[in-house]
Formats: sequence, structure tokens, C-alpha cells
Amino acid sequence: MKHCLAIHGGRPVRERYLPYGKQSIDEKDIQAVINVLKSDFITTGPIISQFEEQVAAYVGTKYAVAFSSGTAALHGACFAAEISDGDEVITTPMTFVASANSVLYQGGLPVFADIKSDTYNIDPRSVRDKITSKTKAIIPVHFTGQPVELDEIVKIAQEFNLIIIEDAAHALGAMYKNEKIGSISDMTMFSFHPVKHITTGEGGIITTNDEEYYQKLLQFRTHGITRDPNKLVENQGPWYYEMQFLGFNYRMTDIQAALGLSQLKKLDSFISKRKQYASIYQEELKGLPEIILPKQLNDVDSSWHLYIIRLNLMLLKADRKEIFQALQKENIGVNVHYIPVHTQPFYKQLGYKSGICPESERLYEEIITLPLFSGMTEEDALDVIQAVKKVIKFYSVIK
Ligand SMILES: *Cc1c(COP(=O)(O)O)cnc(C)c1O
Repeated sequence: MKHCLAIHGGRPVRERYLPYGKQSIDEKDIQAVINVLKSDFITTGPIISQFEEQVAAYVGTKYAVAFSSGTAALHGACFAAEISDGDEVITTPMTFVASANSVLYQGGLPVFADIKSDTYNIDPRSVRDKITSKTKAIIPVHFTGQPVELDEIVKIAQEFNLIIIEDAAHALGAMYKNEKIGSISDMTMFSFHPVKHITTGEGGIITTNDEEYYQKLLQFRTHGITRDPNKLVENQGPWYYEMQFLGFNYRMTDIQAALGLSQLKKLDSFISKRKQYASIYQEELKGLPEIILPKQLNDVDSSWHLYIIRLNLMLLKADRKEIFQALQKENIGVNVHYIPVHTQPFYKQLGYKSGICPESERLYEEIITLPLFSGMTEEDALDVIQAVKKVIKFYSVIK
């Protein structure tokens, strides 16, 4: 506490709080939404499929199905993959709870594989270790926007006949060996939450090349109902529809899709801004032995959803909490991504124990997410660097 007072006796690096993430909305986005509000359809209208077609074209797949959230989209993918009671699905604990929850929604059992110590992405060797006769699918997460080693994951999936559902909430626009994420495995989920690359308020999408998955996803997001004459068991008349399985109302509205279409036009410029700020961080922070910067592999191109520094606690007189709070006092909007999912109270109740993913649990104690979003400025990035250097220097054991 004495340290905190001493360090913050002076003026904070910034006067105004800089959030860790935020949407970028311009007049064109606003006009696109207004146009839909003045049109005939604000939901189940024509804008949804336009948005789906453009996302599919952007990532290079045949199909895309929009959902009311990324979480709903993941649920849909687990349904389409026929995850059900007792099926095991391997995922990472270094993710938002939704990646694992989507398995539970279907009655499946999430199994957590550990991460690699350098990229923090799921470790293919750990995935292999966790496979049993009940394993049905793998949900890899492209953590921070850096693609996982998909070749390895695909090889394992082929060997054991597993379905791959990529959680690419962080990775819209990212590339794996010159292919866009979203075009590679069975199904891929993207999220349009405001902190993600583009936003629809709430929203998500599944991209796929598989016609059967596509049809199931469409029906799942609208109560399990179809009006498709080819699918109806009988046809009682022009009003007739059939509910053929238990689905949900997980539809995106046309209002959201219009915002998404307008945002999509700016996606590449948003990504290049994120890359620019991430490279400023990489360049300016690389000389500090007290922090470890995120390692980037050679054959991938991250879309930089998050920028995470890892503290070298051996060289610091404070723990993560103290350093986190000190950065907050500098008006830097820091965050922690993520609390390992299996350590959440609900997962503990289900019987998951601490210690099952030691690399993830250790990482959790040492990470801080710095602000990174397309609407920040180079000056903002330099403020973040100044604050990090000030705080780290204060707590360093190196004099
Ligand atoms: C944001 C996110 C989700 C869920 O997306 P929502 O659109 O908020 O439901 C799932 N997984 C990861 C890793 C995310 O970051």
C-alpha cells in the first residue's frame, strides 16, 4: 500500500480513462441502422442474408448463418455437430466461459486441454492426451487473434474422427498459412460483441462449407421450424410449417445485420489499426525483462483482438493485482483474459479440480490485458507504454 501511495502521489499518465476495448461507430453505420428502421422489415428481412453472404465471401466459405450472439452461434454449432449426453468435447480453459458452456447446453462434457507456454493457445499434444472413446469434437480458440496450430488439430481430428468447431471470436480476419480463419474446418464461430473486430451490438455467426450443417443451423436458430417444401413431412397448405426438433429463437435482427454490413466495409482498416498499435507495444516494451511479450508464430497472421503482457514475477516486488491496480490509477483500462474456465465456481460444482491445467493456471496469475481497439490513437498507445514503464520500473527489483 505504501508503494501505491508513493507511485501515485504524482499525476497519472492520463487524465482521461482509456478503456481496454470499444466499438468504432461512424455516421455511415448510424445511417445504415436508420434505413432499416424506416423499412418494412426490422427482423427476418432481407438484410440478414446479405450480411451472411458478405461474411461468407470475406472468409471464403460457401455458407454463413447469423445468430443473436456468438454464444448462441456456438450453441448452434454444437447442436449441428450432434453433441449430446455424455459426449466429450476438448477445449481450452484460457477462453471466455461460452466456449465450454455451449457443450454443456447440449448435455456434453467439456474436457480441458492445457495451453502452450509461449502462444497461450491450446497445445495439440495436450489435446491428444485428453482423447477418449467418448470424444466427439474439439473447440480450439484462436486466443487473442493468433490462430492455433490448425494443421496439428486437423490431423488429430482426422485420426480420431472428430468434428472441429473453431471459436474464432478473437480472430476475424486472421490468417493461418495464407488461409483466412473461418474457411478451414467444419464450422467456425465469430462474435460481433462491441469489443470484437466489428460489432452488431450483440451478434455472432457460423461459417461452414457443409450444406448439412448449414441447413441444421438455419432451422436451429428459429425454433427448429422449417417452411422448406423439400423438408416438410406433409404439406397442409400455404400457411403450413413444421417444427421438427427443439430449436431456439436465436435470430439476429435486420437492425443488427445492417450495422454489421456497414462495419464489414471497415474491417480491414480496423485490423490494420490494431496491428499498428500491437506493433508499437511490441517495439516499445521489448526491452523490459520484467515483462514477457506475446510470441507470434511465423506462419500465422494475428488479427490482434487482445494484447496481453505477462509479468515476470521473479523480477517484480508486487503481484499481478498490485500492478493491475497501479495501471488503473494511471487511467489505463487494463483487464485480465481469462480466469481459467474450470476454476469457475459452477465448473467446480461439476467436479472440475484446480491443477488439471497447470500452464493455464500459472498464466492466469501473471497476465494483464492492455487497451487495444481500432478507435484508439497512437498517442493513446504511447500513454499505455509510458504507464507500463512507470509502474514496472517502480516495482522492479532491478535497480
Ligand atoms: C466474445 C467471445 C465469445 C462469445 O461471444 P458473445 O457474442 O459475447 O456471445 C465466445 N468465445 C470467446 C473466446 C469470446 O471472446
